Amino acid sequence: MSGVMVVTGASRGIGAATARLAAEHGYSVAVNYVANELAADEVVEHCRRLGAGAIAVRADVSDEAEVRTLMATTEAELGRPTVLVNNAGILHQQMRFDEMSVERWREALDVNIIGSFLCAREAVRRMSTRHGGPGGSIVNVSSAASYLGSPGEYIDYAATKAAVDTLTIGLAQEVATEAIRVNAVRPGLIHTDIHASGGEPDRIARVASSVPMQRGGTPEEVARTILWLASDEASYVTGALVNCSGGR
Ligand code: NAP
Repeated sequence: MSGVMVVTGASRGIGAATARLAAEHGYSVAVNYVANELAADEVVEHCRRLGAGAIAVRADVSDEAEVRTLMATTEAELGRPTVLVNNAGILHQQMRFDEMSVERWREALDVNIIGSFLCAREAVRRMSTRHGGPGGSIVNVSSAASYLGSPGEYIDYAATKAAVDTLTIGLAQEVATEAIRVNAVRPGLIHTDIHASGGEPDRIARVASSVPMQRGGTPEEVARTILWLASDEASYVTGALVNCSGGR
């Protein structure tokens, strides 16, 4: 397997695991991050040790100009992107809906929705046969929150992920004849830093009993699902929302 994969939010967690696995599978990888340069560089070094081309690119996915630079830098240094993994996402402190501020909502919508839209749009402009591109694959990282709703914790976050699901369904159909497949993975409770951002680092231990498999998942388990959806093994799969959540 080969190609050029852009993974947003690849300095940590699910994105970092995806970048590492992509390098193992023979992809060149653009490791995007927004703040944590050291962590991004470590992922790049890991990929290079595996013999893969890899670069770290700082870009805030909610910023149009920075997303354009992310794609242009990737194309100049690694070649035209053939896979986009729309993974970057943020989670705010757990709270009731009636306590949330509009500033919080705007930030969540900006990163999780506009960020995914911007990256997907720039990817389609490069991949679509309609624009002279070779085709490709987009994998959006949604969440089980999109169907659970996250009451008492972060309804705003859950709603951003529902938007990512709808983007996946619509865009998959719009570009189905342009050699681009668009799918989403919906992770459940995955062991990453994101739960600390929500104010409860040990959240998985508290809610694991609600998972039919009785455990959280690893970033690598999600990464394997993403790599499959991105690959030609999934050549007839588009518009799919794949739960990776232990049955939850
Ligand atoms: P994480 O460990 O908190 O890592 C977040 C990553 O996103 C970091 O690499 C961070 O970069 C990057 N990032 C944040 N804001 C960004 C921005 N504006 N522009 C570019 N990059 C940005 O998160 P994770 O748990 O791996 O989550 C990855 C994705 O999976 C998210 O979309 C999340 O909603 C989704 N998800 C996670 C879980 C879970 O249980 N962990 C469950 C369902 C869905 P820096 O390191 O530079 O800050």
